Amino acid sequence: MRDPNCIFCKIVAGEIPSKKIYEDETTIAFLDIYPANPGHTLVVAKDHFSTILGIPEDNLYNLSKVLKKVASSIRESMNAEGLNILQFNGSVAGQTIPHLHFHLIPRSKDDGLGFAWPHRQLPEEEMEATRKKLAEKMGYRG
Ligand code: 5GP
Ligand code: ZN
Repeated sequence: MRDPNCIFCKIVAGEIPSKKIYEDETTIAFLDIYPANPGHTLVVAKDHFSTILGIPEDNLYNLSKVLKKVASSIRESMNAEGLNILQFNGSVAGQTIPHLHFHLIPRSKDDGLGFAWPHRQLPEEEMEATRKKLAEKMGYRG
């Protein structure tokens, strides 16, 4: 499965170059062309799934093993004190390339990247209504 207009499909096929650090049957990892920090790596499903909703569980399981392996390589090889793993689904969520990928970004205390995630407090009734809606969809009756 590939999309002829997709830049990551072209990277997977070797039609455009990339700085690969790993590859297996279903997953590939290469350096982000515009790294947030040195070592910023993209772990990418080889088949063209636009978001996490499309990937078969087996492929995702394999990809998650690669994520862990790349995470520990980054930690040791780049002397990272910490690591962000980010994954965006849909342009509204910040996804610019609609081919499933995870960002791994090595972090250190003084890298200046920071991280700000605005938190808000919601009314208890809204929290509980949300929990019920999601739990029901999950088939959870705990
Ligand atoms: P997202 O879709 O999660 O917003 O991010 C896509 C990421 O792909 C960006 O961080 C961008 O720098 C990276 N990127 C875009 N084009 C290329 C490319 O041709 N090669 C590589 N290695 N990375 C790319
Ligand atoms: Zn693609």
